[in-house]
Amino acid sequence: MLNIDLHCHSNVSDGVLPPAEVVARAAANGVHALALTDHDDVAGLAAAQAAAEGTELALIPGVEISVTWNGQTVHIVGLRIDPVHPELAAGLHNIRMGRIERAQRMGDDLARSGIVGAYEGAYDFAANKQMVGRTHFARWLVAQGHVPDMRSAFRRFLTRGNPGYVEHQWTTLENAVGWIRASGGMAVIAHPGRYAFNARELHLLLDAFRALGGEGIEVITGSHHPSEYGKFADLARAFGLKASRGADFHAPGEGIDIGRLPALPHYCQPVWQGWPELETHFSLSPT
Ligand code: AMP
Ligand code: MN
Ligand code: MN
Ligand code: MN
Repeated sequence: MLNIDLHCHSNVSDGVLPPAEVVARAAANGVHALALTDHDDVAGLAAAQAAAEGTELALIPGVEISVTWNGQTVHIVGLRIDPVHPELAAGLHNIRMGRIERAQRMGDDLARSGIVGAYEGAYDFAANKQMVGRTHFARWLVAQGHVPDMRSAFRRFLTRGNPGYVEHQWTTLENAVGWIRASGGMAVIAHPGRYAFNARELHLLLDAFRALGGEGIEVITGSHHPSEYGKFADLARAFGLKASRGADFHAPGEGIDIGRLPALPHYCQPVWQGWPELETHFSLSPT
């Protein structure tokens, strides 16, 4: 079987490894094709591509775009994007500028609960000063001893109803899918099992996404419990969407490692079907 992992993060967003080390780790784990999908930034793709050059691993240029839909945050992965496409680049830049302002409000909110210095602290954990997010706050909260681990950081802080959570308007679903498509890429709904939508809302999301030209949905992801795989494989089939697979790797020892996931259910149509990057691999193993 081809080992294809189409969702992971480097320290260009909220992962901890530099892009070249993410690629090396994927290769060591036996991954044949890897998409680097940093949040709202494509700045790691050149280094990742350089690291993949001359190896067996195909690097797929990707991104994970933050969207607000129906009052909730939804993540849209773009695969096989063109990172220098002006419309995509400008849109992502705007989202990152919004992140800086949001981080200030998060720091202010934590300060009101007696936790001071979080804004500056989070920035110390952000290798890319344009891409700051809740994970950087969480790492700082752990390092300061406010919480024992990342899980508790997100349970006690940074989530709706808790200190450090602020409402934020990301971009629209229409923009995210539009930029991805304009740059030649394929739009995929990330970790659908993570959203607090009821069935009706989830179906509305899939319909709206399809109508905008979205093509895929993650079925096998580190964010899904194995008991959820079948549900999302069925939804993909029912809504005419292709299926994706990705660990959503952020850091060694945190969650699932790159490429260490089960295969897609056999009845899924993989998002990577027919990709020219994989032709040499397809001819080696016709599955
Ligand atoms: P942001 O885009 O700044 O709101 O941060 C979202 C990121 O926070 C996600 O991509 C995850 O990496 C991380 N995250 C969100 N919820 C949790 C959680 N419950 N446990 C661990 N990490 C989380
Ligand atoms: Mn993340
Ligand atoms: Mn995500
Ligand atoms: Mn992710």
